[in-house]
Amino acid sequence: MERTEIIIGGDTAGIEWRAPVFRFKGSDATAPSVYIQAALHANELPGVAVAHFLLEKLRAADAAGTIRGDITVIPQANPIGLAQSHFGEMEGRFDLGSRTNFNRDFPLVALAERDTLMADLDRRSAVDRLKRTLLHTALDHDLVLDLHCDDESLQYAYIDDAFWPEAADLASALDMQAVFLSDGESTAFEEAVGHAFKHQGDDKLKTVPGRLSVTVELRGRRDVYAGMTARDADGLWAFLAGRGVIADPALSVRAYTGPAVPLDNIEMVKAPAPGTILFHRDIGETVRAGDILATLITRPGEADGTITVAARHDGLIATRSSARYARRGDDLMKIAGHEATRRDRKPGTLED
Ligand SMILES: [Zn+2]
Repeated sequence: MERTEIIIGGDTAGIEWRAPVFRFKGSDATAPSVYIQAALHANELPGVAVAHFLLEKLRAADAAGTIRGDITVIPQANPIGLAQSHFGEMEGRFDLGSRTNFNRDFPLVALAERDTLMADLDRRSAVDRLKRTLLHTALDHDLVLDLHCDDESLQYAYIDDAFWPEAADLASALDMQAVFLSDGESTAFEEAVGHAFKHQGDDKLKTVPGRLSVTVELRGRRDVYAGMTARDADGLWAFLAGRGVIADPALSVRAYTGPAVPLDNIEMVKAPAPGTILFHRDIGETVRAGDILATLITRPGEADGTITVAARHDGLIATRSSARYARRGDDLMKIAGHEATRRDRKPGTLED
């Protein structure tokens, strides 16, 4: 194993950030290579813990000589965001300086243009340098996993159509309860990697066998527990073994049986008015159109001071807000439905 660091000099004097990078050299040049990063959104910590336990297993495999493909793991990919607290709370999702989402605005380049990412790096901002360095590192691999989490959430993933259904083995290995099939149109890290993989020649490839770029949502932000995390590390291990990145002939991955739904099937349940949220339903429950999801206390103390929010379509509650006060228009839930229900979605993203 080789341990190096990504070092990002600050935009002001006297500042420097460091992100450790762990690399394992595989014994078989024909085995797929894999890149795993966690906590690009710095306050999403399940992936950090999973990567920590996975690295423990990989070190043992390295000692036993059973690593076949090259593996790179960056278990805490965003030291800039990690250091940004605002009134006592880590922001994590948005850079406080530029107000940009740490997981947007990745440059979209073809795979052959990978090295252009690093051109004139010292003229770019620290956040831009970090993004380009992570993307440049990832694009040297076949399989790229970006570990995130949602607010209160089931285990699920965003997977570009181009990698589906080949990636069903990952969904099964991690016991995912849903897969959201995305259309690869945003500038998230995963979609920048997918863009490069799909642009390897003159034509845009519709499928890219043997490659993968995925955003894994490791449940909710508070789902960081010893047993759960170790099981997810075992899940990643099973995925790597199934793909031949590590040799573990005893392992087999069973078929994925959960739903895989296009983003247009995801109902974003919004608060129609501001108020205190009383949820009636939880993640993992299936609902029918018309079922009451939440009561909002919009005018506390008044006889008619509440409104109810109902499901508009049948589906599975995949995520729920952890906040208990909603501003008008806030997202309360994501419900994965059986049919397309959205006409207003910007390509590529559900959230800013
Ligand atoms: Zn995230």
